[in-house]
Amino acid sequence: MNTWDYSVFWDEAMRQLSEELNTHEFSMWFNILYDSSTQDSIIIKVPSLFYKDQLEKKYRSLIEKKLFELSGKKLLVKFIVNGNTAETSFHKPTNEKTMETNEKLLQEQPIQTPKTPQVKKHPQLSLNYTFSNYVIGDNNSFAANAAIAIANNPGSAYNPFLIYGGVGLGKTHLMQAIGNKAYENFPNKKIICVTAEEFTNEYINAIHNKDFSAFKNKYRSVDMLLVDDIHFFENKEGFQDEMFYTFNALYDSGKQMVFTCDRPASELKNLTDRLRSRFERGLKVDLQPPNYETRIAILKTKAESLKLNLPQEVLDSIARNVATNIRDLESTLITLAAYVEITGKSITLDVAKDVLKDIFNQFRHVNVSIDHIVRAVSDYFKVSTNDIKGKKRSKKIVFPRQIAMYIAREITEYSTTELGIEFGGRDHTTVMHSVQKIDELIKLDPSLKTIIERIIQNIKT
Ligand code: ADP
Ligand code: MG
Repeated sequence: MNTWDYSVFWDEAMRQLSEELNTHEFSMWFNILYDSSTQDSIIIKVPSLFYKDQLEKKYRSLIEKKLFELSGKKLLVKFIVNGNTAETSFHKPTNEKTMETNEKLLQEQPIQTPKTPQVKKHPQLSLNYTFSNYVIGDNNSFAANAAIAIANNPGSAYNPFLIYGGVGLGKTHLMQAIGNKAYENFPNKKIICVTAEEFTNEYINAIHNKDFSAFKNKYRSVDMLLVDDIHFFENKEGFQDEMFYTFNALYDSGKQMVFTCDRPASELKNLTDRLRSRFERGLKVDLQPPNYETRIAILKTKAESLKLNLPQEVLDSIARNVATNIRDLESTLITLAAYVEITGKSITLDVAKDVLKDIFNQFRHVNVSIDHIVRAVSDYFKVSTNDIKGKKRSKKIVFPRQIAMYIAREITEYSTTELGIEFGGRDHTTVMHSVQKIDELIKLDPSLKTIIERIIQNIKT
C-alpha cells in the first residue's frame, strides 16, 4: 500500500502554473494526470513518449521548483506513459496496479532504438549539439567553417575563437559542436566546457573553501576550454583577474579557447581593458538571424528529426511568420509535433495556422513599417531618410536616428537585431545603446517625451 499522497501539492502547483504560463502553452503541455506518490516523488501520467521527453526537457525543473515552494520538500517528478501506444512496451505494466506502484518501471530507461556506432559522450557536452545537425546557411557559414577547422586543428590558427550574436541563434550549439568533434578527434585531450556563470561560481567556492590551487590547476591544465556566455563576467572584477591569468597561461601554451557572448566583446562594459583585449585577440564571428531559405532548410531538418511530416506550404508559412531565431523556429515544430501526438491528425495549412496562432501573433509586427517611422522622424527633424538609415555620424543625424530607433522599439514588435538590420545593417547593440541613450535624455529633459509622442501621433494618423 502506498502511504504517500502529495496530490494536494500537485493540484495547487498546476493551479498556479495555469495562471503563470500562457493559456495556450498550459493547455498544450499540461494535459497530464496525477497518478500516485512515493516517499520523495510524484508520478504523473502523460499521453506519449514524445510528451514525456518534452515535459522533462522544458517543464520538469519548473514543476519541481513549484512543488518545493509548496511542500518545502524536494519532490521529484516522474513521468509514465499512459495508454496503449507502442511506446508503452518499455513500461509495459502486467496489470494496472503494478503500473501504479512499480518503482523499477519508473526508473529512467533509455529508449530502445537501434543506435548507429556508439559515440562516447563527453560529460559536459550534449550530443544534441553536433556539426552533423547544425544547418549551415547564409547567417553562419563563415562561423561554422571556422568552427570545424578549429575542432580538427585546435590551438593553431584561430585562438581564441569568439562567437557572438543574439539569443537563439546557435552560439551554444556551435561551441559544443566544436567540443564534441574535438573530443571525437582527440579523446585523450582534456576538454572543459562551462558556462561563464558556472566558472565564476566554481572560482568563488574555491576561494571560500581555500582550495584555490585545485581550481587553478584544473583550468590552467586543459587542452581546450569552452566558456559559454562570457557577458556574465561583466562586473565580476575579482574573477576577471583570474580569467586573465588563465587566459594567458592557455594562450601561451597554444591551448584552444572558445567563447560565446551576446554582443561583440568591444561592447562589454565593466570589463577590464586587458581582459577585453584578450577576448578580441583571435577570430571573432557573429551569428545573424537566418534568411528565408535558411529558415526553410532548418525547418526541414528539424521536422525530419521530429518525424514530423509537413507540407511545403506549412513550412513556408512558419518561415514567413517566424524570422527571429532558430529557437523560435524549433518551438513551432515542437508545438506541431505535440498536436500530432495528441490528436493523431496530420498537419494541414489551416491546422498549422490555428495551432500556431498565438506563436505567430507574438511575432506579428504592429501595422507600422520602419520606413514609415523613418519618414515621420525625418519630416520632424528636417533630415533626409537616407541619412537616418545611413552611416553619417554628425550630431545632427545621430540624434534623429536614435529617436527613430527608440520609436521603432516602442511601437513595433521588431527585435533589436531586426531593427539593426532595418537601420542600415547595424548591430543589435547599437539599437540597444540608442534606446538607452534616449531614455537617459528623457530623464534629463522630459519635454523630449512630448516630442516623441507627437511624432508617434503623426505616424499613427
Ligand atoms: P544561443 O546559444 O545562441 O542562444 P542555441 O545554440 O542554444 O542558441 O540554439 C538554440 C536552438 O536552436 C538549439 O536547440 C540549437 O540546437 C538550435 N540551432 C541553432 N542554430 C542551429 C543551426 N544552424 N542548425 C540547427 N539547429 C540550430
Ligand atoms: Mg546559449
